[in-house]
Amino acid sequence: MSALSELYRQVAACHRCEIARTRTNAVPGEGAENAEIMFIGEAPGWHEDQQGRPFVGPAGKFLEELLASIRLKRAQVYIANVIKCRPPANRDPLPQEIENCRPWLEEQISLVKPRMIVTLGRYSLAKFFPGKTISRVHGTAQRQGGMIYYAMYHPAAALHQQSLRQEIEADMKKIPALLAEAAEISEAKEAPKQLSLFEV
Ligand code: URA
Repeated sequence: MSALSELYRQVAACHRCEIARTRTNAVPGEGAENAEIMFIGEAPGWHEDQQGRPFVGPAGKFLEELLASIRLKRAQVYIANVIKCRPPANRDPLPQEIENCRPWLEEQISLVKPRMIVTLGRYSLAKFFPGKTISRVHGTAQRQGGMIYYAMYHPAAALHQQSLRQEIEADMKKIPALLAEAAEISEAKEAPKQLSLFEV
């Protein structure tokens, strides 16, 4: 069993929060175990809770379209959330829930070792861009410790608001160049892990 599968097993058994009682399924995350890029959303919604998979409802469909616009498939990337259980009635995650779930997300990052993390929405933004406001920093990257962090609007927000939709589409288009830069940074530091997704 891979270390990530073991983590999924542990997340499925986690009862650190009250919302573990009301979930149908925990939603640990999924994707390529050595993905170069990890997308981190907020929390599972109804569809995700039903299926135990992240971003499988309307926001997920839009995320897949955005990925396709830069010739990526979801199986090539890693998709996770700040919290792994659906808050009842899709309320916002509580600070304690985010804190309880933090070790799971951090372990996922250290196992997948992405070169680039894309924050989707304000909860994920708050973790990697503390004190920043999404309307100001979306579409911008931060380089730290050999990693690139990139802020984007949440696809669910952008889905229903035309102006945000255009912004998120434009922000997505900046990812290939950032990934190429991230590959250069990590090749300078470590042995190559896999061919860049954008190499022919
Ligand atoms: N919204 C999120 O933030 N995550 C999901 O998995 C689905 C919708």
